[in-house]
Amino acid sequence: MHRLYETEDISVFWDSDKCRHAKKCVTGCPEAFDIQRKPWIQLDKAETAKVWKAVSNCPSGALTCVFNHGIIVKLEDNRSVAYDGDRIIGECDFEVTADGWNIYHTEVDDHYRGKSIARRLVYAVVQAAEHDKANVIMTCSYAGKVME
Ligand code: SF4
Repeated sequence: MHRLYETEDISVFWDSDKCRHAKKCVTGCPEAFDIQRKPWIQLDKAETAKVWKAVSNCPSGALTCVFNHGIIVKLEDNRSVAYDGDRIIGECDFEVTADGWNIYHTEVDDHYRGKSIARRLVYAVVQAAEHDKANVIMTCSYAGKVME
């Protein structure tokens, strides 16, 4: 399971396959990470610095986080889109097939490379597919790479 949690400032990625349930996140920042709660991650309940530190201490790499740099990611028809203000600076496109959701194209403007925007875009699509109980297929090699 892949989940993307976002505030205005940061994005937190969670990959349940990597989670070893060591609960370092829970002990480090119980306001934001509470396994008794749904959703179990609620970033608005704690200071960004405290969330960041707890994520940094995740021993398995299940949790990771990045700064948003003012870029907003939205899910639209058959794609996720990254906006800098009104300007589209990246997108991740998928098609719904009989075998699942196929992510076939991911692209981020060269000027915005190195900010994990592609990862946010792909995670947004994967999370939506998982909510829809659909398989995820990645014929886009870039998408596969950012999910490693
Ligand atoms: S710290 Fe990481 S490995 Fe431990 S419970 Fe939290 S997400 Fe899972």
